[in-house]
This record gives sequence, C-alpha cells and structure tokens, in this order.
Amino acid sequence: AWAGGDSLLDGLNPEQREAVEYRGPALLIVAGAGSGKTRVLTHRIAGLIGSREAWPSQILAITFTNKAAAEMRERVEQLLGQASSGMWISTFHSACVRILRAEAERAGLSSSFTIYDSADSRNVIKRIIKELSADTLGFTAAGVSNKISKLKNELADVDSYARNANLNDPQEVMFVEIFRQYTKRLRAAQALDFDDLLAETVFLFRAFPATAALYQRRFRHILVDEYQDTNHAQYSFIKELTRPIEPHVVAELDTAGHHVRSLQDATGAIPGASLTVVGDSDQSIYAFRGADIRNIVEFERDYPGAKVVLLEQNYRSTQNILSAANAVISNNFDRKDKKLWTAIGDGAKIIGYTGYSGHDEAQFIADEIEKLRGEGVAYRDIAVFYRTNAQTRALEEIFVRSAVPYRVVGGTKFYERAEIKDAMAYLIAVANPADELALRRILNTPKRGIGPATETQLASFAEANGISFRQAMRDAGSLGMGPKVTGAIVKLARLLDEAALMLDPAQRSSDSAAGVSSVSEVLGFLLTESTLLETLRSSRDPQDETRAENVEELLAQTKDFVKENPDAGLIDFLTQVSLVAAADDLDDSSGTVSLMTLHTAKGLEYDSVFLTGIEEGLLPHQMSASEPGGPAEERRLFYVGITRARKRLYLSLAMTRAQFGETNVAMPSRYLQEIPGDLIEWRQSPGMANSRGGTQPRALNARRDGYGSRGSSGSDRFGGELPPAPKPKTEWANKVTAQVRDNGDLTLEAGDRIRHVDFGEGRVNQVTGEGTKRVAHVQFDTAGAKKLLIKIAPIEKL
Ligand code: ATP
Ligand code: MG
Repeated sequence: AWAGGDSLLDGLNPEQREAVEYRGPALLIVAGAGSGKTRVLTHRIAGLIGSREAWPSQILAITFTNKAAAEMRERVEQLLGQASSGMWISTFHSACVRILRAEAERAGLSSSFTIYDSADSRNVIKRIIKELSADTLGFTAAGVSNKISKLKNELADVDSYARNANLNDPQEVMFVEIFRQYTKRLRAAQALDFDDLLAETVFLFRAFPATAALYQRRFRHILVDEYQDTNHAQYSFIKELTRPIEPHVVAELDTAGHHVRSLQDATGAIPGASLTVVGDSDQSIYAFRGADIRNIVEFERDYPGAKVVLLEQNYRSTQNILSAANAVISNNFDRKDKKLWTAIGDGAKIIGYTGYSGHDEAQFIADEIEKLRGEGVAYRDIAVFYRTNAQTRALEEIFVRSAVPYRVVGGTKFYERAEIKDAMAYLIAVANPADELALRRILNTPKRGIGPATETQLASFAEANGISFRQAMRDAGSLGMGPKVTGAIVKLARLLDEAALMLDPAQRSSDSAAGVSSVSEVLGFLLTESTLLETLRSSRDPQDETRAENVEELLAQTKDFVKENPDAGLIDFLTQVSLVAAADDLDDSSGTVSLMTLHTAKGLEYDSVFLTGIEEGLLPHQMSASEPGGPAEERRLFYVGITRARKRLYLSLAMTRAQFGETNVAMPSRYLQEIPGDLIEWRQSPGMANSRGGTQPRALNARRDGYGSRGSSGSDRFGGELPPAPKPKTEWANKVTAQVRDNGDLTLEAGDRIRHVDFGEGRVNQVTGEGTKRVAHVQFDTAGAKKLLIKIAPIEKL
C-alpha cells in the first residue's frame, strides 16, 4: 500500500479525482483555464508511480516549456516524497533530441549533430537565396524559412513537396531548389533545425518499427499538456508512440534479446501505451505555427473509447476576472460553450486605463506596481504582458527610470546575442567538425585577417577536393595564399583539434596521462587561445564591455553546468542550450516583475497581471486581419492573458502609439467592448481628466449599447472620433524618449551631490552593483529616496 494515496487525492475535486484515478487506454481532459488540468496530470503521474502501477521510467510527460517540465518534475517528487529518476518529463523537442541522439546511427546522423535555431537556419537560407539570385524573384529568408517550417510541421520533405509542385511556375521551381539546397546543406553540416527534430523522429519511427517498438514498449503512460497547441508532426509523434506493437515486431524484439513476451496480449501484440491529454481549445494560440485545434476536437475519433472528463471549477482567479474571460471568449463561434466558475469570490474590479501614449501607459503601470508593493504584493507575483516585442521599449525605459526591477522573459535571448553565438560556435565546431556554419562564423572572429575572399577560396577548395571545410582549413598550406593568412587558418584548425583532444584524450597519439577536460575547461581554453575574450575586454567600443561580461557569464554557466551534471559532456551542454525555450529564463525566486508576450504567458499564473496595448492593430494584431480565423485566434490570446491573473487584472491602452518611428492614433480593441462594463473601473491619464468627460475610452462610451451583444462584430463599432491627444504633464514624455543615454564611466560615490532631470538635486547615499549594473541610492532634496541605474539615468554630478 502506498501511504501517499490519500493526501494525493485530498487536494482534488471529484472530477479531478476521477481523471487522476481513471485507468484505460485513452483519457481526454478538456477544461477552461485554471481548472487544474496541469495539476491533474501531475497527480496522475504521482499516482501511477506511487501505487507501483508504473515505474518512473515508463512515464513520458510532455509539457510546453522546459520550465514547465522542471516544475512538474518537482511537484511529482514532492507528492511522492522522493526523487524519481528515469521519468521523461520534457518538451516535444527535448524528447526527440534524446531519441535522435540515442538512435543517431539508424537515423543516418552523427550523434553529435548540431541543432540550428531559427537565426541559424535563416542564415543558411539567406546564403542560398543569394547564390541562386532568388531575391530577384522576391524570395526573402524570413518568407522561405516560414514556409519550410510549415511544411516540416506537416511532415513534408523536399521530395514529397516537389512531387506535387507546379513545375511550370518559376516561383515554385525556385522554392523547390532553395528547399533542396537547404536540406542538402544541413545534412552536410550534420545539423537539424527545430522542425527537423520532430519530423526526423517520426520518420525514424515509421521507417524502423523495431526501433519505434523499443520506445513503445518503454513508455507505457504518455501524458501531454496543452494538447490544443500540437501541430501535425507532434500529433504524429504521439500517435507513433502509442501504437500497439504487432506480433511480428514482438518476435523480432524477442529474438534480439529484449524481454517483451510478458507484455503480450492474447493476439500476441503488445497493446499501445495509455495516453492522457489535457487541453482547452479556447487557448489554442499557435495556429500560425501549424497547431491544429482538430487534434483535440477529434481526439475521441482518433482514440476510440477514450474517456472524457470535463472540469469547470476554476481555482485560479476571482469571479470578476473569470466573468470577463467568459464574456470575451463567448464571442467566438464554433466552440463548445463552457462557463468557468470559482468559489474565490468577486474580488477587486478589473482596472482599465487609457493613457495618451505608450509611455504614459508604462508610467501608469510602474506607479501601480509600486502601489501593489505597498499592499504587500511581491515583484515576482506581478507580470506585464504585451502582444508584440516592440512594446517593451517604452515599458523598459519607464521601469528603469522608476527603478522597478524587471526581467524580459524570452526577449533578446541571451543565447541569441552575437557574442554568445560566437563563443558557442567555437564549442560547436569542436563537437561537430562537419558544421561549416560554425566554422565560417569563427573563421575571422576575433579578427585574424581572414577575409571573405579567403573564406570562399577555402569553400571551393573543399568542394573541389571532396573534403570538409575543416579539412580544407588544415590543408590551407596547399592553397598558395600568403603566409600570414595561411598561418592564421592553420592555427585556428589546430586550436579546434586540440580542444577536441582535451575532451577525448584517448585519441591523442602520444600516450599522455591527461584526463578528460570539462566543458568549462575547454571553453576557457578556446576563449583564451582564440583571444576572443581578450579582444572584447580591450576594445574601445563601450558595448564590448557588456559583450565581454556576457561571454564571462557563459563561462560561469558552463561551470554551473559541470557542477550540476558531473557526468555530462559537451554535447549535453550544447543540447541544453539549444532547447532553452522562451519561458525558460523565468526565475521565480528572483524579485523581479516579469515582462513577456501573451504567447509566452500560456500556462503561467500571477497574482497581478497587466495586459497592455489593448488596441486595434495590436490586439487583434493587424497581421491577423488577413488570416482566416485570425481575429478568433487573437481573441483566444486575449482570453489566455486574462486568465493568467489570480487577483488583480489591469487592461491598458494608449490613444497614440509610436511604432516604426511613427506615432499613430490608436483605437481601443474591439475585444474591450465584449467585457461587461460593470466589471471594469476605468481610469485615465491625469492629464486627460479635464479634456474628457467620461471615464471610459471615448469610443466605448459612444457605443455602450453594443456590450456583450454577439454577432455585432467588426471594427465598424469604432467609428467614434477620439479626442485630440492632450499634452499635459510638462514635457516629460519628450524627455523620456530623449533619455536613452549612456553615462559610460561616470564615477559616483557616497556623499556626491547630483542633479536629475526630473527629481532635481540630491545626495548619493550608497552605490551598489558593478559595471553596467551600478545603482546609485539617492536621497533627493524634494523628490525623496530613489534608486537609479547610473549608466542610463538622466543625471549629472555636481
Ligand atoms: P491553464 O489552462 O492556464 O494551463 P490549468 O487548467 O492547467 O490552467 P492549473 O495550473 O493546473 O490549471 O491550476 C490552476 C491553479 O489552481 C493552480 O494554482 C492550482 O494549484 C490550483 N488548483 C487546481 N485544482 C485545485 C484544487 N482542487 N484545489 C486547490 N487548488 C487547485
Ligand atoms: Mg495548465
């Protein structure tokens, strides 16, 4: 008997309990946001292991982000009261990488294959477009890469695509040629792009039933969170894994020494794994990436006899927040009507705010956050969501000025910075000598006098002699280039070879007694010997200082990695880095406000949520207008945003919004009108109080009667004229935009007196932090105590 049994079911309502306890081949849990879907999955896994119905190693759980995976693992172990290794709780991508690395030979890959992120694959495509002069036909790297990605998500490869292509159309012919080149180059570089990870795994399973059977036999319980956002490739991956193993494959496995007979049923087959999926079709927000809502809608047809459990009680949000969410989503047609309810009570009203500019909106948010802090809400319990990354600029400017600590989740990602990619390219070149992209990237980084002409020469030499780019570098001596250039190339090739030997000393010809070096030792060696780090440190470009810090941060990360994963090698490190997904830089323990896009917010929850830019053009996004189903998907996105909030929800918009260097008049989003007026308390920019009568955005006031009425859709509701943008509150808005400044190496210490553009004069009490993160704690004569980031604050020393 398992002692955890009771407490495991204690925190569940009867429907959730039923879902946790159900045993059968297929289970579908459909429910609205915050109804405990993820919680049920977690309890179900703990229940299966705790009752000894399953070994941890028989579980495969798929989550949307690595971060969600880590959380789920932690929760399961908490419920079980013990660590359970061997469970696979991961994203689709991580699971596929693990399988592909293990089965590399079968898949026709090197087990050290490189994973290209979207920037890498765009670079390859850009080069192909240029070589084929495809730009003259209107091809762009972004367009081509989107199209290839969509095709791969549909499990189409270049051959299957070419079979159906219209070869009389020059555009089609060119696209096929680009696609073909792209496929060829990735192969040659032993590289897979993100979409390949899934597609190749599915192809592998289909081509080698006995290999697939090893995984079908291993994973007896498969659980998938956020099933509504699976695309065709992901759907097929699950379909393959849950397939019964046919008798002849069972026999094959048995002959190969795998003990599988005990799993056979009366027909000699091994039944498919049990599958549990949870999802909410109202939260499907990835159609643009090929997610197919039909996967959930048609689940009962795909898995006949599936049990369906509905959950309706929401445990996350107050009734006011839920009512708003229900009202909005009920405007989407083609959905099963479900109403969420909560026992939590009405809670505070939703607060609406109309600013006259994006900066004004951001200032309101910063002020409101400080108020919430005063009420005891921690920074980490607050999140700000937006539709487009461009909206972060105003928010960041104001947050920095107002000393609100924040973190942009999934913004300019650390691993996407050029200097980090440079350092990583050194590691990749060591791990995968076939990766030409990595080699070309570091060929002249840092500068060693190897120009593009030399690069081309090396590439043609490699091509002409049927050798790799790497071998061409080693043989550079026979190319007849100048001694200096030749020396630089050969030296780099030697450096990479030497680093490879550090990782695998057994390959050394001399019988040296050197042990295996760790990832951090190898990276340290590469950074020093290549002078990459030193070049950044000694540069006169002030930005290089930050870049050097970033590279040092990477080095520190490899040290942590080695400490946490003593048995892991370079490939493991590279894999981990490639799979870091947007929501993964979230660090709950840190005391910062989280800023993220609505897409990234899925599955998360926060006490207080600010939804910004609720305007036509942003939400719904202007690009969605031309897509079939676009506005409905945008509405789901809004629904996802609203339902992240536990206690407080803010909806804000601006009357004018700066975008692409222009300032445009913005209209309130059509979705705002779908929220019953009595749920929202409207506020507005202080400077607008005089110029405007109502408390709601003007366009809404004008059409009050439209509330909640289904069907009267469209932007025609917003023909209402907006009042002219007022110019109150002195000129600070101008100053804010002008204040992107750099105080560089302004040295401040306690006792110094300074002058701030807005706060006037004050005295520095203390300076904390280092480098670009130095913060001055200042007591202003009239404005009170403030913390300022020295690098960018509009201050001067007196
Ligand atoms: P989403 O659709 O946003 O992914 P979800 O359906 O996965 O939401 P969960 O995140 O599992 O919902 O649960 C929402 C919140 O409610 C969590 O904080 C969870 O711990 C809590 N919760 C769920 N069920 C219960 C319950 N029976 N008793 C108490 N709290 C619960
Ligand atoms: Mg969830």
